[in-house]
Amino acid sequence: MMTENPVIVAMDCSGAEALLLAKALRGRVRWVKVGMTLYYAEGPQIVALLREMGFEVFVDLKLHDIPHQVAGAAAAIAKLGAGMFTVHAAGGRAMMASAVEASRRAADELGIPAPSVLAVTVLTSTDDAGLAEVGVASSSAETQVKLLAGLARDAGVDGVVCSPREAALMRALMGEQALVVTPGIRPSWSQTDDQSRVATPAAALAAGASHLVIGRPITTASSPAEAAARIISELS
Ligand code: C5P
Repeated sequence: MMTENPVIVAMDCSGAEALLLAKALRGRVRWVKVGMTLYYAEGPQIVALLREMGFEVFVDLKLHDIPHQVAGAAAAIAKLGAGMFTVHAAGGRAMMASAVEASRRAADELGIPAPSVLAVTVLTSTDDAGLAEVGVASSSAETQVKLLAGLARDAGVDGVVCSPREAALMRALMGEQALVVTPGIRPSWSQTDDQSRVATPAAALAAGASHLVIGRPITTASSPAEAAARIISELS
């Protein structure tokens, strides 16, 4: 599933650096990702600033709380004009459904497009032993990923965030229309940094990803604009 310009640049940096990067990438990249590092340092205005610069913004705060609280956060994120945001599938069906419902209602009230809601299943930093430690002992990480993705689909989310290795499985489970957003992407010419299970952009798309989250291969390149252009040209 090839989305037009599927690259999402992860801006895991300070606000000042994010704005410099955004200036360099404007016109080349459609999507940027604001995660906890940038959001908690700069607040919601960083999302508004990036929107004003013409980017679609993926707000990756991995919401996980009671449904009422998550509904409030989801509505606020929708009002910022975010294009996507994340919730933890482990928060349960009612919590995910409340995020979908509240974000759609808030967007409708403003007459703007509703953001897509993405579920995070099991963090790739968590292995079978880590799951057992938090009481998910009857299951392997893969079984848990499948269970949570099925729950997310039934709760009405628009897609999932997963490793490229899970992309084919998620595509089959979630259906053709779902968003399958994969981090852990490394072009063949870049360093792997601290990512261990990486895939190239083309391989992740071939496995069923709709969007590719790419951070350091672009953000730490001597020319972020050239690195982004090279990745995008290799995809077409
Ligand atoms: O710099 P790099 O390309 O490794 O950045 C990947 C981005 O994707 C970071 O924002 C990271 O937090 C996020 N991510 C990840 N692995 C996951 C989920 C999110 O690397 N399983």
